[in-house]
Amino acid sequence: MFHSGGMRQRLDSLNECARRGYRVKITCGNPACGRVVTQDPVVLMEKCHRRRIPMDLNKVALRLKCGWCLQACASITPVDPIVDG
Ligand SMILES: [Zn+2]
Repeated sequence: MFHSGGMRQRLDSLNECARRGYRVKITCGNPACGRVVTQDPVVLMEKCHRRRIPMDLNKVALRLKCGWCLQACASITPVDPIVDG
Protein backbone atom coordinates (compact mmCIF):
# COMPACT_ATOMS: atom_id res chain seq x y z
CA MET A 1 0.00 0.00 0.00
CA PHE A 2 1.23 3.43 -0.85
CA HIS A 3 -0.30 6.49 0.71
CA SER A 4 0.39 9.68 -1.15
CA GLY A 5 -1.00 11.91 1.57
CA GLY A 6 1.97 11.84 3.91
CA MET A 7 4.45 13.92 2.00
CA ARG A 8 5.50 15.97 4.96
CA GLN A 9 8.69 14.59 6.37
CA ARG A 10 9.93 15.47 9.77
CA LEU A 11 13.33 17.01 9.42
CA ASP A 12 14.52 17.35 12.96
CA SER A 13 18.16 16.39 12.67
CA LEU A 14 21.16 17.61 10.71
CA ASN A 15 21.64 14.17 9.18
CA GLU A 16 18.18 14.18 7.69
CA CYS A 17 18.59 17.66 6.28
CA ALA A 18 21.92 16.77 4.72
CA ARG A 19 20.63 13.55 3.25
CA ARG A 20 17.71 15.28 1.57
CA GLY A 21 19.80 18.14 0.27
CA TYR A 22 18.21 20.70 2.55
CA ARG A 23 19.99 23.65 3.98
CA VAL A 24 19.37 24.95 7.48
CA LYS A 25 18.33 28.43 8.50
CA ILE A 26 19.74 29.64 11.79
CA THR A 27 17.83 32.44 13.44
CA CYS A 28 19.43 34.45 16.23
CA GLY A 29 17.48 34.48 19.48
CA ASN A 30 18.40 38.05 20.27
CA PRO A 31 15.57 40.30 19.06
CA ALA A 32 17.93 43.24 18.84
CA CYS A 33 20.08 41.27 16.42
CA GLY A 34 17.71 39.03 14.50
CA ARG A 35 20.53 37.71 12.34
CA VAL A 36 19.48 34.93 9.99
CA VAL A 37 22.01 32.79 8.17
CA THR A 38 21.55 29.81 5.91
CA GLN A 39 24.15 27.10 6.12
CA ASP A 40 25.04 23.71 4.76
CA PRO A 41 24.05 21.14 7.41
CA VAL A 42 27.21 19.17 6.63
CA VAL A 43 29.31 22.00 8.01
CA LEU A 44 27.30 21.96 11.22
CA MET A 45 27.52 18.19 11.42
CA GLU A 46 31.30 18.38 11.46
CA LYS A 47 31.20 20.93 14.25
CA CYS A 48 28.82 18.78 16.25
CA HIS A 49 30.99 15.73 15.77
CA ARG A 50 34.00 17.54 17.15
CA ARG A 51 32.09 18.93 20.11
CA ARG A 52 29.98 15.82 20.70
CA ILE A 53 26.73 17.69 20.27
CA PRO A 54 23.67 15.64 19.30
CA MET A 55 22.45 16.17 15.74
CA ASP A 56 18.92 17.17 16.75
CA LEU A 57 18.19 20.61 15.38
CA ASN A 58 16.77 21.75 18.72
CA LYS A 59 19.83 20.65 20.63
CA VAL A 60 22.24 22.13 18.12
CA ALA A 61 20.35 25.40 18.31
CA LEU A 62 20.93 25.55 22.05
CA ARG A 63 24.69 25.22 21.60
CA LEU A 64 25.23 27.52 18.66
CA LYS A 65 26.19 31.13 19.09
CA CYS A 66 25.32 33.94 16.77
CA GLY A 67 28.37 35.10 14.84
CA TRP A 68 27.36 38.71 15.29
CA CYS A 69 26.09 39.25 18.81
CA LEU A 70 27.43 35.99 20.32
CA GLN A 71 24.10 35.13 21.88
CA ALA A 72 22.79 31.61 21.72
CA CYS A 73 20.68 31.04 18.65
CA ALA A 74 16.98 30.55 19.05
CA SER A 75 16.13 28.18 16.27
CA ILE A 76 17.31 26.09 13.37
CA THR A 77 14.84 25.28 10.65
CA PRO A 78 15.27 23.22 7.47
CA VAL A 79 15.14 25.13 4.21
CA ASP A 80 13.78 23.40 1.14
CA PRO A 81 16.39 23.98 -1.57
CA ILE A 82 13.76 23.90 -4.29
CA VAL A 83 11.56 26.51 -2.66
CA ASP A 84 14.30 28.73 -1.30
CA GLY A 85 16.74 28.45 -4.18
ZN1 LIG B 1 22.72 37.63 17.00
